[in-house]
Amino acid sequence: MAADKMDYKKAREEMVRLQIEARGITDRRILDAMCKIPREKFVEEKFYTSAYADYPLPISDGQTISQPYIVALMTQCLNLKGNEKVLEIGTGSGYQAAILAELTRKVYSVERFETLVERAKKVIEELGYKNVNIFVGDGTVGLKDFSPYDRIIVTAAAPEVPSTLVEQLQENGILVAPVGSLYSQDLKVVEKKSGKLYTRSEGGCVFVPLIGKYGWKSNEF
Ligand code: SAH
Repeated sequence: MAADKMDYKKAREEMVRLQIEARGITDRRILDAMCKIPREKFVEEKFYTSAYADYPLPISDGQTISQPYIVALMTQCLNLKGNEKVLEIGTGSGYQAAILAELTRKVYSVERFETLVERAKKVIEELGYKNVNIFVGDGTVGLKDFSPYDRIIVTAAAPEVPSTLVEQLQENGILVAPVGSLYSQDLKVVEKKSGKLYTRSEGGCVFVPLIGKYGWKSNEF
């Protein structure tokens, strides 16, 4: 199908019904946000017609935009009520940041590649979101200036839960991160209650590596 003939609204609705709802995501706000946000804007033109497919897609700098279901699952794990300040590590295309922008008060996002940051900023701005701030940098050290955060979402694979990020998490906060090897990870959900950490696992996943001071080192793969 040619990109200009594609019914993106229909593709979005089908994606939400068949990939997201069918796999047990029940939060209406998340489903509505995914029905609303034009995912094709976050990928290169040659991938427009695959923008609603059930798998990750390449973006620039050898990175990927996550599979829609994984975005929905991680977002549901954050348990957003609407008033949170959220930190995302790994802006990538900016799609996850846009979802967060729909669901909460304030979003900070950090990405190591400047090209990705510039593109994500542009799309986010075009879509009219005013509550997202994107920075170039090593997200493994967090973003101290605006900490603590009610929620932190790491969208790249970490060797372990980065302790700096846990430090920047607010009391009663939730952190979601894929933790494991370079090839497969477990989606970890960490809750901070009375200074203690409670961690559960939400199943297997595969992400591109989190590279930085408290992540993987570039010479490790
Ligand atoms: N959330 C993204 C998907 C990101 S893929 C989306 O919705 O499209 C993971 C991203 O994490 C990649 O863009 C990668 O460059 C970035 N990344 C890896 N290590 C990082 C680090 N230390 N700090 C910031 N970003 C990092």
